[in-house]
Amino acid sequence: MSDVTGNDAPLLPAASPATWLGVMGGGQLGRMFVHAAQKMGFKVAVLEPAEDCPAGHAADLLIRAHYDDQQALAALAERCAAVTTEFENVPAPSLALLATRSFVSPAAACVSVAQDRVEEKRFFTECAAESGVMPAPYGVIAAAADIEALPDTLFPGILKTARLGYDGKGQVRVRDREEARTAWAGMNGVVCVLEKMLPLAYEVSVLTARGADGRAVVYPIAENVHRDGILFTTTVPGPNVAPESAVRAQSAALAIAARLGYVGVLCIEFFVLEDGAVVVNEMAPRPHNSGHYTIDACVTSQFAQQARAMARLPLGDVHQHSPAVMLNILGDIWFAAGSDQPREPAWDQVLALPGANLHLYGKDAPRRGRKMGHVTFVAPTLAEAQARMQRACAVLGIPS
Ligand code: ATP
Ligand code: MG
Repeated sequence: MSDVTGNDAPLLPAASPATWLGVMGGGQLGRMFVHAAQKMGFKVAVLEPAEDCPAGHAADLLIRAHYDDQQALAALAERCAAVTTEFENVPAPSLALLATRSFVSPAAACVSVAQDRVEEKRFFTECAAESGVMPAPYGVIAAAADIEALPDTLFPGILKTARLGYDGKGQVRVRDREEARTAWAGMNGVVCVLEKMLPLAYEVSVLTARGADGRAVVYPIAENVHRDGILFTTTVPGPNVAPESAVRAQSAALAIAARLGYVGVLCIEFFVLEDGAVVVNEMAPRPHNSGHYTIDACVTSQFAQQARAMARLPLGDVHQHSPAVMLNILGDIWFAAGSDQPREPAWDQVLALPGANLHLYGKDAPRRGRKMGHVTFVAPTLAEAQARMQRACAVLGIPS
């Protein structure tokens, strides 16, 4: 039997938590998934080539293998009632293979769309009638001649590699066609999109989860601030978010998940422009950094939700019980200015702040720009949560 997700394996009855779930990838998202799933009683197996990885330290079983190792994939699928991925660049053929023996969510076809900006934008454009939102105007560059054919209206723009970009990597801002030629040559001529630079008022993301039965839930909209291309803070409720923009983005996210026949947690990033227009940017077929606040501020975290969707159990309540600000912790704060000797940040002072929830990912080598953890501040009011985050920044030496 094949269901809407493209899984070929027979649909098991809703898996009881006394069973195994599998994760492709051993990073922090995998680790937080392991914690949430174990809390519900599941056992979790992680497939990851590196021995020393955040999810491997927490998992019941670490299968050390490359993501395309057929034997290892078979072992994971045999053991687990359902398998998911914690990163979008997992080889789609590996997910397809897993799907012949286990329930895979999200399905390979959904992950493939999110892996490639060209496909992703084409998909967003195709479902604009249902979602009510369009991606930023863009052109595809697969050959030098494509740069010459781009309309002038796309400049100034951002050149982004079609594949493997994250945290602002694989992106160059270009003022004009000449800069685009140079930047594209600098990217070794890989397929790129050139996106028009838009006047952003603010950025939001919408986390949604959809079950195999087609039922879906949507979390409160999150407002994101990036620094140097990396998520800096997520604030919920977003201080700038207009209610009508929130509704548009949330209903767009639900429409996109439905159109994909998606099962699991899906995060979609949107830009809200100065004139109030909502533009869809990109999607992550998994729990997302901007959804970490759900661990401490919502009834059901994004990771528990993923476990429920995988196991075909009822989706959980997405109600947010406290205003929250999530602050990402990068490796930079282990280093004093001009020093390359790491020292431990003053966690005692951070944890002395009321409403502070510290999450460190168990990475032992801090590096500048590396995501080491996050702190979520919850408080009775948003202003208090923001003030606590500001105090933590002062303690940790993060310019706020
Ligand atoms: P992520 O870490 O979310 O995966 P990414 O590297 O895939 O990021 P994008 O989200 O596409 O890249 O872009 C990174 C940031 O650059 C955005 O959050 C936004 O601040 C800015 N940006 C991207 N595209 C545009 C645009 N068309 N106009 C204006 N700003 C943009
Ligand atoms: Mg992004």
